[in-house]
Amino acid sequence: MPEPFQVVYFVHVSDRDAAERAVHDWLSERRVRWNKEFFEVPLALAVEALDAAAHYFPVLIGSKRKLMALPQAFDTTEVRCSGCGTRNQVKHLGVAVKVRCRSCGGVL
Ligand SMILES: [Zn+2]
Repeated sequence: MPEPFQVVYFVHVSDRDAAERAVHDWLSERRVRWNKEFFEVPLALAVEALDAAAHYFPVLIGSKRKLMALPQAFDTTEVRCSGCGTRNQVKHLGVAVKVRCRSCGGVL
């Protein structure tokens, strides 16, 4: 490990190798060194990439008649901005973060 780290988010996927390759491709321009699996990205972008991987490689559960994607571990909450009234979807993460409104940029 180049630096100490914390796990702040993860997703369940059906094909971890394919999901990892996809995330590496999406974040390739943010790779710290071409031959290492470390990326320097804003947390929101990393979460977005993992959510996309979960979307493309869902873990399907249930029966043939009622198939559904395994729910992910981290929930989303709607938070209304006190400044402009926009309803923001905010992820619960494994660490506390400052979240800004997607419309006005105010701290939620
Ligand atoms: Zn706002």
